[in-house]
Amino acid sequence: FSVENTRNFSIIAHVDHGKSTLADRLLELTGAIDKTKNNKQVLDKLQVERERGITVKAQTASLFYDYEGKQYLLNLIDTPGHVDFSYEVSRSLSACQGVLLVVDANEGIQAQTVANFFLAFEAQLSVIPVINKIDLKNADPESVEKQIEKVFDIPSDECIKISAKLGTNVESVLQAVIKRIPPPKVHRKNPLRALVFDSTFDQYRGVIANVALFDGVVSKGDKIVSAHTQKTYEVNEVGVLNPNEQPTHKLLGFLGLLHMEVFNQRLEQEYNASVILTTPTVPYKAVLSSAKLIKEYREKEITIINPAQFPDKSKVTEYLEPIVLGTIITPDEYIGKIMMLCQARRAVQKNMMYIDQNRIMLKYLFPLNEIVVDFYDSLKSLSSGYASFDYEDAGYQTAELVKMDILLNGNIVEELVTVVHKDKAYSAGKAICERLKDSLPRQLFEIAIQAALGSKIIARETVKAYRKNVLAKCYGGDITRKMKLLKRQAEGKKKLRKVGNVEVPKDAFVKVLKTQ
Ligand code: GDP
Ligand code: MG
Repeated sequence: FSVENTRNFSIIAHVDHGKSTLADRLLELTGAIDKTKNNKQVLDKLQVERERGITVKAQTASLFYDYEGKQYLLNLIDTPGHVDFSYEVSRSLSACQGVLLVVDANEGIQAQTVANFFLAFEAQLSVIPVINKIDLKNADPESVEKQIEKVFDIPSDECIKISAKLGTNVESVLQAVIKRIPPPKVHRKNPLRALVFDSTFDQYRGVIANVALFDGVVSKGDKIVSAHTQKTYEVNEVGVLNPNEQPTHKLLGFLGLLHMEVFNQRLEQEYNASVILTTPTVPYKAVLSSAKLIKEYREKEITIINPAQFPDKSKVTEYLEPIVLGTIITPDEYIGKIMMLCQARRAVQKNMMYIDQNRIMLKYLFPLNEIVVDFYDSLKSLSSGYASFDYEDAGYQTAELVKMDILLNGNIVEELVTVVHKDKAYSAGKAICERLKDSLPRQLFEIAIQAALGSKIIARETVKAYRKNVLAKCYGGDITRKMKLLKRQAEGKKKLRKVGNVEVPKDAFVKVLKTQ
């Protein structure tokens, strides 16, 4: 296929604005999927995604489309929509030259629309605004056009108004992809250079990499080298996706609770694997205080990913925490409550602007650790679901941090070691102990739950002793029945994590971390 007739694009949108529906419609129009079969949202393939109605993993489909006597290859790279996955979004975007920015004609621009637009804009991609759901009774595409002009500086006549659901005007979206998005710049004579933007493992075929080709060509039988690992691989097969690949997981660290739960569920569904969850953690930094330490760590500024390795205050001159620039879009009636929430999360306001008569866009600098747990849910609930939120990296700031341990009968629960801001240690410690008390089943002995800063205990709860006797139902001496019950109990225990002599059900961790 000639490069001039190839387009690589992605659809970006706030959640529920119609990205998957539009993708399905494009696949249908180009014959990649059969209209008559009930192929609902082919790109959202994973079970968890279907259950939760969100897109987690980037998927790719190659579409063939005839336009003005030429055939085009349009590679549609799907991106995750939820706020927890912005890393995967930018990775998918780096394989594209343009994006369709889908905005709901009823809801207008939302926080993810803004964040995704700027990711695309910074990557210098062509942005095609698509106003979707014009069939809705309350649709106001003209007002959304004005918002797009005001917030993104895109002339309103560049907006394409469609109904992805009914198929209205979807054909003009494909034509805009061809006309407004440039073909990729590939220099075929140069040595091969390609970006792996996604990869999967197939038991029979080996590693399947989805790549965007920048230079050169690749064919069956070629030997290729990974620039990252320097390892050599042989190419067994090359192809395009139309759409038929098998998704698997890629471990990207966890950001946010939804992300964590999705991964847990996904690993269990796809691999029958049991995973132990840990506190979502952000990469802190510490500036070491002595030449001896700098020599020992081979660096002056160290990054701490595992809270258990957080260096003691005596070793550092300052701690640094990652911060993000958050965008919130909300009807103005919730502004007071939202500002209070942001303040409680140590956020600093940077900007505030009306994007239409009654909706406000707020920009705040947040410490990342204040939003990874539960910020999104709180924002949603105090705005009756109307406020939207997204964020991007904004570097680091100095912070007074302490390491907090959670102990069960004197043993540290490694999964629950956290780094917290000094001013929040007491309330966070108390909250975790209380929630742990509610989610730990009673056991044969009493359990002391404690939060500690070093040797100083700052909170304590107690779970009283109790035990379910699995043999209580066996009246007689039927040994096989007894064995069966004991076996069943042992199986149940696989889902447990042992801390010292205390058994902790795995879902207790998610419950404990849910609100902070
Ligand atoms: P995504 O989260 O951006 O992928 O959004 P979906 O494609 O899953 O769509 C979210 C909801 O909006 C679904 O219930 C769709 O049926 C609905 N929807 C999508 N496009 C349209 C449209 O053009 N008109 C109407 N009325 N509903 C739509
Ligand atoms: Mg979707």
